[in-house]
Parts: sequence; C-alpha cells; structure tokens
Amino acid sequence: MSLLKSTVAIVALTLALAQPGKADARANAPGQGRPTAFDQLAEQLESGEISAGSDAQMAKLLARIRTLVPAGDAKRLLRYQYLYCLFGMDGEPARAVSVAADGIEASSRLGYPQAEANFHYCRGDYRQVLTTPRDALPDYQAGIAIARRLGDLRLLGDGLSNRGNVQSLIGEPGLALVDFLQAQRDYQDAGETVDAQLNLLNIATAYRRIGQMPKARQYMEQSLDYARQRHDVSQQIAAEEQMGFLELESSHQPQALRHFEQAIAMARPLDQQEALGSAYLGEAQAFNLSAHPRQALASLTLAQAAFDRVHDRSNIDMIALQAGEAHAALGLYAQAEAEYDKAALSLGPSGNLRYLSELLGARARTEQALGQLPQAVVDLRHDIAVREALDRNAERYNTMLMSYQFDSARQDQEERRIREESAMQGRQLLALQRVRRWQSLAIVLAGLLLLGLLGLAWRQWRNSRRLHSLAMTDPLTGIANRRRIEQMMARAMEAAGESGDRLSVVIFDIDHFKRINDIHGHAVGDIVLVRLVAACSAMLRPLDQLGRMGGEEFLLILPETPLETGRRVAERLRECARRVALDDIAPELVVTISLGVAQQAYPGQPMEALLEHADRAMYRAKAAGRDRVELAGPLPLPDPVRAGQQAVLP
Ligand code: GH3
Ligand code: MG
Ligand code: MG
Repeated sequence: MSLLKSTVAIVALTLALAQPGKADARANAPGQGRPTAFDQLAEQLESGEISAGSDAQMAKLLARIRTLVPAGDAKRLLRYQYLYCLFGMDGEPARAVSVAADGIEASSRLGYPQAEANFHYCRGDYRQVLTTPRDALPDYQAGIAIARRLGDLRLLGDGLSNRGNVQSLIGEPGLALVDFLQAQRDYQDAGETVDAQLNLLNIATAYRRIGQMPKARQYMEQSLDYARQRHDVSQQIAAEEQMGFLELESSHQPQALRHFEQAIAMARPLDQQEALGSAYLGEAQAFNLSAHPRQALASLTLAQAAFDRVHDRSNIDMIALQAGEAHAALGLYAQAEAEYDKAALSLGPSGNLRYLSELLGARARTEQALGQLPQAVVDLRHDIAVREALDRNAERYNTMLMSYQFDSARQDQEERRIREESAMQGRQLLALQRVRRWQSLAIVLAGLLLLGLLGLAWRQWRNSRRLHSLAMTDPLTGIANRRRIEQMMARAMEAAGESGDRLSVVIFDIDHFKRINDIHGHAVGDIVLVRLVAACSAMLRPLDQLGRMGGEEFLLILPETPLETGRRVAERLRECARRVALDDIAPELVVTISLGVAQQAYPGQPMEALLEHADRAMYRAKAAGRDRVELAGPLPLPDPVRAGQQAVLP
C-alpha cells in the first residue's frame, strides 16, 4: 500500500511541476501587501473612475482620502499629496509650485518614481498658469522620462497629454497632435478607458488648430457623447467650448455663441472659473466677429473677472487682443492700440503664430486708421512673414502627422506580429509541457512497473529458497536432514582431500529410545530429541556440522580433526547427553547415547565406507554396554591408494 501511496505522490508532484506558474503584479501601490481602502480610492480618483463635479466636492473627496492614509506611511502620504497637488490645489500657483517641488524632492528621496513624475506634472500645470505654458515643458519632460523608464503607460499617457496641451498652447498643434495620439495609444493599451475618453477632446482641439475641421468635429462629438454618458459636466463644458471655437473658426458665429452659452450655463453653478473665463472669451470673439463690440467688451470683463479669481494670467494676451478689436470696431483706436500692444507683449514671446497674425493684421488696420502708416506697413510685413511661417507650419504638421500615422501603423503591425509570435510560442511551449508531463508520467509508471516486477521476482526467489531449505531441514530439530548432511559430508571429505586436512565423523544413537517412548510417551521422546540436539549444537565449533540421519541417530562432521580429537569431542557429547535437563517432563530420566568415531582414511575415500566404519564403531559401543565412545580401528587401505598416499595417513 505504501508503494501505491508514494506512486500517487510522485505522480501528483510530477503533474504539479509540469503546471505553468501564475504571475501577479500591482501597478502604483506604494509599499507591499494588499491594497488598502486608501489605495482603492486613490486609484479610482487617479484613473478617473470617480470625479468631482465641483471644487468643493473635490475638496471633500481629497479630505476623505487624507483620513485613509495609514499613520507613518510616508509613501501613501506622498500619493495623497500629489493627488492633492493635481486635483485639489487652489489659490496661489506659486505656493503650488513650491509644494510640488518639495514633493519631487521627497519622492526621489523615498524612491517612489510614480509620485515624483506626478509632482512634476503638477508643477508643470502651475508653471503654465504662473508664467507661460512653455515653462511647463521641462517638468512634463521629466515626468515622461520617468514614466518611460517605468514602462507605466498611464503615467506616460498623462505626461504626453500634458505636453501636448502645452504644444497646442504655444502654437505647435502638430506636435501636440502627435503627443495626444500617442497618449491615446498608451491609455488604450493600459486599459485606461476614462483617460482615453478625456483625451479625445485634446485630439479634437489639435485637429482644430491644424485646420482639419471635419476630423476635429468628429472627435469633439465623440468626446461630448462620452462626457454625457459619464455625467462628467466639466468635460461637457470643455467639449462645448471647443465646439464653440470650431464654429468660430468656421465663421459660424451663431452656432459658436450657442456652444459658449451652453458652457457658461454649466460652469457657473459649479464655480469653474477657468472654464467660465474661456467661455466668455470665446463669446467675446463671436461678438467681435459678428460686429457686436459692446457685447464683446462685456463678455471680456466677465472673462477677466473669472480668470482673476483663480489667478490665471495665461489669457491676458487673448483678452487684450479681443478688447483691442472691440475698441477698434467702436472707433476707439488709441485704446485699441494700447490693448494690441499689451497683447503683443505676451503673444510675441509665447509664439502662437495664429494669434500673432490676427494681432498684427488688427493692429495694422488700427495704425492705418490712426494715420501711423509706417508702423502699419511694418506690422503688415511682419504679418506676411508670420503667415508664411504658418503655411510652412501647416505643411510641417501634415508631414509630421503623416509620418506619425505611418510610424504607428508600422508599430501596430510590429505589435501584431510580436503578439502572434508570442502566442505561437506560448502554444508551442504548452504542447511541449504537455509532452513533458506525459513523458514524466510514463517514466514514473515504467519505474513502478519495474519495481513491481522486481518485487515479484524477489518473492519467488525467497519462496523457492524457503522450499529448498525446508527440503533440506529436519522439521523437528531444525538441523540438516539426512540428504543435507550427506551432501555436507561429501563436500567436507572432498575439501579435506584437497587440503590434506584430517576429517573425523561421529555417529551417535540414543540408547533404548524405544523404551523412553514406551514409558514417557512419544511427545516426551520428541522433546528429548529436540533438547539433545540443542545441547550438542551449543558445544560445537561453527565449522562442525550436525545432521539427523533418521529416528534417533545423528551424524557429526568434524573438519580439521584427527581421530583422537574426534574421540574427545565424542566423549564430551556423551557427557552432555547425560546432562540434558528433562526435570520438567520426566524427572528421573537420564538420556545416554552411544557414539562411534571414524577418521577419513585417505583422499577420495567413498563416503559410504567412512559412514559404515563409524556406524560399526557405534554398534560396538552399543554392544559394549551403551553410553560409551568407540573408535573405528585402522582401515585396511585399498592397494593402489596405500602405495601412493601413505604419507597423508595420521
Ligand atoms: P538401542 O539402544 O539399541 O538403540 O535401542 P532403541 O530402543 O533406541 O532402538 P530401536 O531401533 O529399537 O528403537 C528406536 C525407536 O525410536 C523406535 C521408534 O519408534 C523411535 N523413534 C524413531 N523416530 C522417532 C521420533 O521422531 N520421535 C519419537 N518419539 N520416537 C521415534
Ligand atoms: Mg537407539
Ligand atoms: Mg536407532
């Protein structure tokens, strides 16, 4: 049974070893162990699974996350801090920038690169507001580098979409589009559905800025649909605004106004000042384009107020440009020129060529009206140069986009090939593992079969040996039976003949055994036989051999023993027999034996002759009164032997 059990164990082990292992990995979980309530909530916020409708709601959510940070858990505290930095910080951008800088330092010290990248993103966000968008680039770049190193696709997507936003703002919509499209791939590959949906609007905006309006419209509508499905009002506002700008650029002012009004209606109750500011700005543009300068100025005042409330200075140039156009339309050229100059201050360095061109054209017209013809000419020339640059850019964007599309198509193809290859390898590996498993099983089973056969063969061998020894053993006394002792004697005589050693044999017979049986019973007779054999055996040398010739007659073979020594051994046996203890079964009984001793006469002497010789001596002992030892007399040698072998006789 134990053989069966170990077989089962071996087979189970073989199968277990052949099983493929399971891998497990967790992305942005600081520290080890199971995800905590903090991890779950933080993850939901970071993946966009949950979002806050207003700043107040976000503040509440962040406060809840803060209470879940386990005491003394520095990494989780950092995670909370970057979430706060990214989603909850309001007020002074300068303070946010310094908080983010501290976070970068602490994350790097603690070896928490995800946090480090996120603090970079946060600092980038506030640097955009604090100075100009371009100043955010080094931080986004640093975060992207960390994300690439970690292979963290969501983090990479975040960095690329951040960088794309800046490219878009500084008048590099081609670069922006490439970043957004790449971010889209990363989000989709990472399974970040919400981020991917949010990014659609970025892509739409970039397409709008490079003038591909149908593409832009398609992405915007998709984005708005998703935002409605998710009840994400902020994203709906952003999509409405983008659609407003799209309509503006397509000279559909009424449609544009409707989108901006929609955006304002949603942003106001939620207190979303940036969104409100840009919707008013858009509205002002629409009013300017449809020759309603006063309404434009009113909208600009509202826009300015909204931006001021959140310390957002990133739109002063656009506000100034629109204010200039409104004033110019009202014939207030001096004021218009002052606004244009203000706009030129930041449009110049930030380098958004589209707005710069709009500004130069508008300022030239105002200068013309003011009679400043040389300046007007300078601005017009400058405008022509800017337009040429814009045209070159448009061409560059197209090339960029085409090469991106080509690259990503190739990348897709390559990825598909790699996926197919690895799937194929996986299948081959599985097949190989299956074969190996069966091979191991077959080997184990063959081994077991062999073991079984060996066991069977061993049992057979043991049985045959037992039968053989039974056939050679006297069942009552356990010593050799007649057949066996005669074999032994033949072998002993042969060995003695070869070595020249002398060999003696003793034959002895229990005296009046019939009487013992008759008086004490057959059972006592049996016990006498057993005890006599035990007593005799105890006093013999290991090389002496005792066997039962039949009835109460025994043969003792004494190798390396001359006749005289044989006689002494026989004498000791005679005394030993008398001492056999039988008090327990027949208290008065004394067992005696008669013994005849003979020595091998010459090498090659027939066994029967030697036996007969000893037998005759034994009968002489019987005749002489029993309980005595008789030696066989010298044997007349056969003539040829006497002639050649005299020397070996004692
Ligand atoms: P002697 O002194 O001349 O040898 O007389 P004896 O009686 O020993 O000789 P005899 O040959 O007349 O008797 C031998 C008896 O031994 C006869 C037989 O029943 C008995 N005998 C033979 N084998 C066994 C045995 O295995 N057990 C018992 N209890 N008796 C046995
Ligand atoms: Mg007898
Ligand atoms: Mg006898």
